[in-house]
Amino acid sequence: MSVLTVNAGSSSLKWSVVDPPETLASGTVQRVTDHAAALRGVLDEAPLDALEVVAHRVVHGGERYSAPVRITDAVLDSIRDLSVLAPLHNPVNADGIEVAMEALPDVPHVAVFDTAFHATLPPRAHTYAVPRAWNVRRYGFHGTSHAYVSREAARLLGRDPEEVDVIVLHLGNGASASAVSKGRSIDTSMGLTPLEGLVMGTRSGDVDPALILHLRRTLNLSTDEIDKVLNSRSGLLALAGDNDMREVHRRIEAGDAAAELALDVYCYRIRKYVGAYLAALGGADAIAFTAGVGENDAIVRERSLSGLERLGIDLDPERNCAGGPVISSDASTVRVLVVPTDEELEMATQAVALVR
Ligand code: ADP
Repeated sequence: MSVLTVNAGSSSLKWSVVDPPETLASGTVQRVTDHAAALRGVLDEAPLDALEVVAHRVVHGGERYSAPVRITDAVLDSIRDLSVLAPLHNPVNADGIEVAMEALPDVPHVAVFDTAFHATLPPRAHTYAVPRAWNVRRYGFHGTSHAYVSREAARLLGRDPEEVDVIVLHLGNGASASAVSKGRSIDTSMGLTPLEGLVMGTRSGDVDPALILHLRRTLNLSTDEIDKVLNSRSGLLALAGDNDMREVHRRIEAGDAAAELALDVYCYRIRKYVGAYLAALGGADAIAFTAGVGENDAIVRERSLSGLERLGIDLDPERNCAGGPVISSDASTVRVLVVPTDEELEMATQAVALVR
């Protein structure tokens, strides 16, 4: 029996066929303009015999969804309704679901939400100090990855997830940190939308909210223009001229001071969140780096965590360069880990658990 996972992003379509824990096939269609056509192509190509369930990644589950759910017409409607909170993601996710349900009507389809793992955030962590009538809160994203990586971190420590406190640093194109206490997310850096928190490839992460008012007043920018700049033209791209961390390093090596500052800002933001989450958790058993930058970039890991020996964090330079899984010294009371994420496997596992 196998699971087809579908991750319809703004310009790409990632898919895999998984028989948990085995991945049987996978692929990515890049530069997608027509998601329906791309998905039909995938359905032709993917080995779909013995298909048991289709698992769809959905970015925003709002207040309603704190766990995977079998997709009905009503569920699909509410995924579309949540587009107001994730305009770049939920409409595309919903389109993908529609096409797949039409093409594969005989198997159950399950939505797995990026926000779901963070549904356990206590009120003090998810409440913004603004009028209640606005009905806004922190949701958090990348939940599938934070769930998988925090569990894998516990496994690497030889402990149950219920016994350990882990800080997960998901550093990809989008980036977020989470504090996971005994298997439950208790805080995370992304907020109402995926814009808050760490410095990302093209997103600013944390800024003074008054920045937006300032831009409206001084540059007369529209809401959509500000949205676009903060989401698509900020972060590493704004500071270094490129959103790919590998290119940032190349520019630093060529003596580019702007790229050097970009790396410094990026790593300093990570360091501050690590400090915050060590305090939130009252100390951690492990810090786990994951996703494109987290899994591959020894320089970012070193810059983010160097000099924190007084907090029990002591990286081993050789282990860090070798890429883990353990990259802290034997003296480090907090174990620092590199844990490759596998969102497709996690989606498949959750979908199977729901339908069986
Ligand atoms: P996404 O967030 O789109 O799923 P990934 O988790 O794959 O993406 O992360 C993509 C990013 O990872 C790239 O934009 C690049 O900046 C970074 N990256 C990939 N490989 C490396 C590497 N070897 N060293 C540093 N950064 C890397």
